[in-house]
Parts: sequence; structure tokens; C-alpha cells
Amino acid sequence: MNMIYGKGASGGIAAGVLKIIRRERTEIREETYTDVTSETAKLHAALAKAEDELVQLYAEAVEKVGEKEAAIFEIHRMMLSDEDFVAEAENFIRNGHSSAETAVRKAGNALAEIFGAMEDEYMKARAADISAVAERVADILGGCENVIRLTQPSVIAAADLTPAETVMLDRKMVLGFVTEGGSPMSHTAILARTMDIPAIVGAGAIPDHCDGCPVVLDGNEGVLYVEPDEHTESRYAEAMREAEDERKRLERFRGKTCVLSDGTRVMVTANVGSLSDIDEAMRGDAEGIGLFRSEFLFMGRNSPPTEEEQFEIYKQAALKTGGRECVIRTLDAGADKQIGYLTGGAKEANPALGLRAVRLCLAKPELLKVQFRALYRASLFGNLSAMIPLIVLPEEIREVRAIAKAAQDSLVSETAAFGRMKVGIMIETPSAAILADRLAPMTDFFSIGTNDLIQYTLAADRENPSVSYLSRSLPESVRRLIRTVCSSARREGIPVSLCGELAADVRETKFLIDSGVTKLSVSPPSVLRVRESVMREASRLVPVR
Ligand code: PEP
Ligand code: MG
Repeated sequence: MNMIYGKGASGGIAAGVLKIIRRERTEIREETYTDVTSETAKLHAALAKAEDELVQLYAEAVEKVGEKEAAIFEIHRMMLSDEDFVAEAENFIRNGHSSAETAVRKAGNALAEIFGAMEDEYMKARAADISAVAERVADILGGCENVIRLTQPSVIAAADLTPAETVMLDRKMVLGFVTEGGSPMSHTAILARTMDIPAIVGAGAIPDHCDGCPVVLDGNEGVLYVEPDEHTESRYAEAMREAEDERKRLERFRGKTCVLSDGTRVMVTANVGSLSDIDEAMRGDAEGIGLFRSEFLFMGRNSPPTEEEQFEIYKQAALKTGGRECVIRTLDAGADKQIGYLTGGAKEANPALGLRAVRLCLAKPELLKVQFRALYRASLFGNLSAMIPLIVLPEEIREVRAIAKAAQDSLVSETAAFGRMKVGIMIETPSAAILADRLAPMTDFFSIGTNDLIQYTLAADRENPSVSYLSRSLPESVRRLIRTVCSSARREGIPVSLCGELAADVRETKFLIDSGVTKLSVSPPSVLRVRESVMREASRLVPVR
């Protein structure tokens, strides 16, 4: 038995076969041209395989993210059979004596160049699709595994997973995952918790010979056991039974409401990134959605979702949450959530300190206006609120409010129907926390985002495993900021919620309630556990207010 140590990123235990996913880029392989007939045959076989994959991907994506978001795979499939594309690749084989792999890449580049030079923004954006399609066919020809395609339920291992790849994981096939890099505060780890996938990050090099070996993954302790011995296997089988018993025990807290001795209601809501997460949150008995990370709607595509596309999703979100509050965070792109067509992260030396979140939206106000228009329209269908990420200064709130007002005015002038909506801000920078007394009168609520608040207060990259020790327990500096935020909110009479990962840390429930936080927003699988903790504290606390 071998043990590989990393950081527990998403609790739970998984046992199964390890599948290592290596995605080397194919450009580095040598030219392998044989003859025209066999290269052309290889090309067509690879095109057919890529098409099969896309059919399957489309079906999976429809189930997970809905038809609209899945449409991109249909577009890719059509591109594969595009006559010009195929003819161009054949031409490179016939006349250029290129291997099928090189030919398909050259054909992709040539077509992408033509599209990229077009005036029309939509056609321009198709260049990236063509490159992606050509790249995948070249990967098939080079014998490279597709992103994450499994034939049996497995524990997967990879150098890293992007948030977009994580959100596309097939929950039925992926029992758990371990990444060589990454940290528990990364969005990949957050998604794993939301999707209830046991996960370890920052595990360092995972030797190739572990591929195909039986493993046990302990997402609580951050340990991967490769070829576990009998004792370890039975210990974990027992732990899995206990976890199941615990899950059943927590069912007692379903449907319960938490009220403090002074009559204050404390709610436990869920953090989500898609409509299917909302279904899971509702099944998990969340009292609403405290954070819908809308940026995930902008990922895995080549242009922002249109107002209609967004409207439909927010409307569904409102309907799915019934009368309960559903807080949609406006686009928080940048830093570790790079969205190629929007963010300049690759060009920024410090993307976490760069043009991300509200800054990006204020630099591209049309983006935010479209989002507000969609939100205001959708708010007719339920209890929607909007929340602005990464505020540092009062001026930003003024600017955001002006854009929200412009969105409403434009709807009025078109006599379009729309509803009312609260607009709150996230407190996730020391500047916002220190200025909370000035920001409170300008906003409907505060929501403390401790993932970022901790990283910016401690100057410790939330993605970097070597500095995560600094926040292993909640630092006093951050405690003080949370207290400051809550007392400013109390004076102004606005509510404070907390939607960072700290909300699920039951060791801190007492501190948070004591400070004046009245809503804890956590990943769906944590709702009942946190509710138990709140009820326990509520029964013995007389909060100081
Ligand atoms: C946070 O920073 O705590 C937060 C909830 O936002 P995100 O994790 O999406 O940056
Ligand atoms: Mg944040």
C-alpha cells in the first residue's frame, strides 16, 4: 500500500479504481506521415470518433446545465462535418504530405484565421470553436485521452482541473478526484463540495504506475491510499457506513427553522453554480439560495450568454426556489475564473489583484447592464436579489447603481415587464470591511465572502497550497473585520449573511452568530449539518446585540 498526502478539499470517502488523466499537448509530437490513403482513412476514423464523443457530451450537458448551454457541443459537431473543414484537411494530406494529425490542425488554423478576421462578432468568436474541434481530432489521432471520459466509475487523478472541467464531471462516473496542484479554497474545490464529490488537492506528483490501481480516497483527511491493505479497506468500509448513518441522523433537522432567544431567525441557505445545483439545494432542504455564482453561466462558451439566455436561467432559478430568496451574484470573472473572451488574466501579472469581478463589469458596463436587465425581468417570477462581488470603494456601488438604474429605465422605455429586486454587496476585501459603516447605507444587505476576505487580509493566495497554513484556523484579523462589518450593518439595520467556505465550519458557528450573521450559505450537502450546529448554538446562546 502507498499513501499520497494532499489537502482534503471536499469531504467524504471514495473507493474504486484510479484513472490518471494526462493531457499533454499534441503539437510536440513528431510528424508521422505514411501515405495518402492511410492518412485519409485515419482522418475519417478520428472525425467519426470525435463526433460520437460530442453526441455523448451534448446529452450529458443537457442533463446538467440545460439545452441552451449544451448547444455549444451541437455547434462543434456541425463544424466537424463541415465540408470546407474536411476538404481542407484532406488537401493538406494529399498535397502537403502531412500526417492526418498535422493536416487537421493546419486545416483548423486556416479556418480559424478566416473566421477570426471576420467583422461580425459572432462569426469572429467561432474561430475558437474551430480550433477546439480541430484540436480534439488531433488529440484523438495522437492517442490523447479526451478531457475526462470514463468507461467505469473511477477515482480520477490529474495535474489540475479547471472549474469548467469540474462542473462538467459526470457525477455518476467520478467517485472522487485528486489533483497534483490546487488548494482547498480554489473554485475547483468549491465546486467539488457543491457537487458532493470527495476530493483531494495539492497532492504533488502522482506516479503513472498508479493508473488502474484500486484506491481509497479520504477527502476529509486528504489522503489517497493506493492498493490499500485489507485493514485500511475494512476501516474505510466502516467509515462509509458511519457517514451514511450520519446522513440519516441529520435528516432530523430537515424542515426545522432556527430562531435565537431574542427572536432573530438564522437561515441556512445554499451556494450554487447552476440550475441543477439549485435542485440539489432544494432536495438538501436549503432555505433559499444565498449565492448563485453566475460566472459559471459564462464559462465553456465563446461569448457571453445573451439577455434572453440569462433571463431564462434566472427565471428558472426564481421558480425553482419558490418564494424563498435566491441571491444571484453578478459576474465574478477573473483571477482563477478566467473566461477567455472576457478576462485578461493571462496578460495580468497578478490576476487576483487585477481586472476581476465588479471591476471588469465596470470596465465593460454593457455586460452588467444586460445582466441587470435579465435579472429585473426574471425577478417577476420569484424572490431574486442581486449581489455585487469584490467591492472596495463606495464609488463602485454608485456606479453599479447607475447601471442598474439604466437597465430599469431601458426596460421602462420598452414597456417591458420587470420586478423589484434588492441589490446587496459582498464584503470580501479589507477595504470594504473597514468602510462598512460608509457602505451600509448604500446597499440592501452585506454578504461576507471569507474565501477572498481571508486571502486579501493575509496576503495569501487562496490557490497556493504552501500558504494555506496561514488560515488553517480563522485568523484574529479576519474575526475583527467580521465583527466590524456586523456592527456597521446592525447600526444601519441591514442583514449580514456569510457565503464563504467558513460558513460550513461548525467550529465557528457560535462566533458567527454572536457577531450578528443571520444567514449562513453553504454547499448543498452541508445544509443539514450546519443547521444542526446553528440549532445547538441557538439553544444555549443569548447573543450580545
Ligand atoms: C468568497 O470569496 O468567499 C466567495 C463566496 O466568493 P468566491 O469563492 O466565488 O470568490
Ligand atoms: Mg469571492
